[in-house]
Order: sequence, then C-alpha cells, then structure tokens
Amino acid sequence: MKQPYERPTLRKLTAGALHKFGPRAGAAPTAALDGVAVAELVARFGSPLFVLSERQLRRSYQAAVRAFGTRYPAVQLAWSYKTNYLNAVCRTFHQEGAWAEVVSGMELEKALLNGVPGPHILFNGPGKRRTDLEQACAVDAVIHLDNADELHLLLDVAAGRATRPRVALRVNLDAGIYPQWDRFGFNLENGEAWQALGRVVASGRLALVGLHCHIGTYVLQPKAYGVAATKLAALARRCGRELHTAIQYLDLGGGFPSTNTLKGAYLPAADTVPPLDEYAEAITGALLGAGFPADELPLLVLEAGRALVDDAGSLIGSVLANKRLADGRRATILDFGVNLLFTSFWYDHHISPTREFSDQTEPTVLYGPLCMNIDQLRNSIALPLLAPGDTVVVHKVGAYNMSQWQQFINLRPNVVMIDEAGAVHIIRAAETLDYLQQLERVPAHLLP
Ligand SMILES: *Cc1c(COP(=O)(O)O)cnc(C)c1O
Repeated sequence: MKQPYERPTLRKLTAGALHKFGPRAGAAPTAALDGVAVAELVARFGSPLFVLSERQLRRSYQAAVRAFGTRYPAVQLAWSYKTNYLNAVCRTFHQEGAWAEVVSGMELEKALLNGVPGPHILFNGPGKRRTDLEQACAVDAVIHLDNADELHLLLDVAAGRATRPRVALRVNLDAGIYPQWDRFGFNLENGEAWQALGRVVASGRLALVGLHCHIGTYVLQPKAYGVAATKLAALARRCGRELHTAIQYLDLGGGFPSTNTLKGAYLPAADTVPPLDEYAEAITGALLGAGFPADELPLLVLEAGRALVDDAGSLIGSVLANKRLADGRRATILDFGVNLLFTSFWYDHHISPTREFSDQTEPTVLYGPLCMNIDQLRNSIALPLLAPGDTVVVHKVGAYNMSQWQQFINLRPNVVMIDEAGAVHIIRAAETLDYLQQLERVPAHLLP
C-alpha cells in the first residue's frame, strides 16, 4: 500500500532522544473505543462525539466500593450529579447501588425522575431556595445545611410540617488543604459548626442525622482526608455526648482525583496520583480509630464524582485545518473547543490520533472552532502531522464536561454510550437549531 505523504519539517534536535524519565510517550493511535472502531462511530454519529463506556463506569464504581467496603463495615456512595447528570450515566450508577448527591432543585428533580427514592438523595449546595427546601422535605431527602440563613428558612418550612425534616450539617474545616474551602458550610475551628448543631437540635423541628464535609476537588493528599475524618468523627461523638443525638452517617464528600494530568504538572498523573485505596485507608483508618463503640460506627458516605466518571468518557473530534502562526509554530484547528471541553482549562488531556503515522511529531498549538481568543485546547502538544479530516480521541473527559458545556456558536453534539456487549446507544441526541430556539419569542413588532 502506498504510504500517505507527509510534508517534511525542520526541527531543532534537543540533546538525546530520551525524556528525563525514559522514552517520550509516543503518539500511539486509538483506533477503537471499547472495541468499536472510531471511524465507525464518526460515520454513524458524526464529529465531534462524546463516547461513554458503560463497562468503565461500572468498573470505576465497583473499584471504589471495594476500596472502602473492604476496610469499613458500612459504606454508601452517593453519585455527584453535577459531575455528569446525563440520565444514562446516573442510572448506571444507581443500578450499581449509588444514592444521589444533588446541589440544586433541578438536580433534585432529575434524581427523583431517575427513580431515586427521596431518602436516598443528599441535598448539598449553597443556594437552596424555599421551594427547593419544600420539595426536599416532601420527598424526605436529607438536607445538608450550608448556612445560618438556610437553617432559618428551613425551620420556617419545617414549622408547617407533620414530620421533622432530616438534616446533616455541612462543615468546613482545616484539613491542611489550602486555600481552604471555607465558603461552603459552617466552620469547625471557629465554633460556628457547633453553634449551628446546637440550634438544630434545640429547635426540636429538625432531625439531625449526619455530618458532611467536602474539602476540595482533585485533592492529591490522602492524609487530608484522614484529618477531615478524625475531626468529623470527634464532632459526631461530641453530638452524642452533649446533644444526645446519635449521628447516623459521616459524609466525607468527594474530591478524589482522576488520572488526568493537571496543567503545569511535571509528571503524568498516571504516575503520581495516589490510588483510591490510599484515600480509603486514610478515611477508614481515622474512623475506626475514633473511639466509636464497634456497634455504633456511623455509616460512611462518599460523594466521589470525578474519580468515578472521568475515565469512562472520551471525546472524538476532527481536524478542520492546519496553519502557521506568525512565530512559525504549527497550529491545528479542531471541530471542538472549550465549548465542549471545559476541563481543558486545567487539564492537559491525553490526546491520540486514530491512525498510524510515522514517528515524526511537531509541537502543535491546538485550537477549537470558536471565534474567541480563549478557545485554545493546548498551548503545545507533540502530535504527528494530522491532516484535515483526521480524527483524534481525547481521553478521560467524563467528568464535568457534559454538565459545563456551552452552546456558544455551535450546537452540542451526540453523546453515545457503548454498553457491555459492545452495542452503541445515543444517550443524548445532537442538538438542532429548532431545539435551541424552542424557548425564544420574537415580539410582534419585529415580525414582518
Ligand atoms: C462537586 C461535589 C462533589 C464531587 O466532587 P469531585 O471532586 O468530582 O469528586 C461531591 N460533593 C459535593 C458537595 C460537591 O459539590
């Protein structure tokens, strides 16, 4: 077969062919996802295209359950809806046994429509409205209190109800992670959390069932979780002693990293990110050592988001054009940009070509198709000489991109899920202009 032509380039040779830590990662092609050819996916569903692997979703979930469940007797995962609330993704996790962790009235409704029983919904978030609280009470979801005004509002809502709404207190604390996330929940160290707990119990109108903290996201120090778990457990024991209230669960939140590499990181994340087992060890070790009687250990709840879904998502895209920047650098324009890959603001995603190339690569700036200067996916990436029409796969994009995407100048593309038998299902159809304009109204005087 005739080899495809590649234009020659001049390239400065840097000393040695090896990277400091071994050979450079090659541009090995990704020709298929879960056994389905990329070319077939693009032919059937277009480009760009988000692809979710049901097998990987289940694997990641089961690995998390195993990491915590083999170390602690009572563990429950609650799926963080905002990380990816496509119903097929949520329902895969619910089928595996996950509760729902929601942060808005809209997410609460989504979880209910996905069949999650109210008592299995944990309602976080700093912006709950009165109607959200009323809805949460009506279905007996657990409300994770964020601030004193919300507490007052809920007490008012609770006054008109026959049963006491169930609540947990969101606590922020110093776990050694800085800047500290002190904008969510009540602070532990300054006494605010304790004061709030006193008010919750003294009101007689609320049932205090849990304590919650979520110390950050992409937290790379398992030890911080040990500190948080120790502090939360001590607070729970104090509730038992001084408020005569048994705390049923401790929720350590999410924030566990995926193996995506942060921008500016020296080494690839796959080599540096601690495995989930280390987080599980830190948390469960702290709880088991906190002095609870063996038959009174609280349920351990976790709200892992990113760590459960990032690996399961891929984004297929196509090269639209190549060009030279004024300084001579090679630039490639893809058919997806920051509109679909929001996480490119902080990750250097692994991006693969989908067919074989020679070993020749060139540092390339990757741009998206938006007419907007910030639409740069990568400042510099070593890629083979992709031509217009060539496709690429961006790996590990399952977290946040499908909830934070924008429709700025382009419609959102198809999202498919490959099931465990290899069948491909559309789980969110490509948007149409009709869909986009459905809610628009043109005043009569602007019509012809
Ligand atoms: C976003 C969020 C999560 C999930 O966070 P990850 O970093 O994706 O694991 C969990 N709990 C709360 C309260 C959140 O806001």
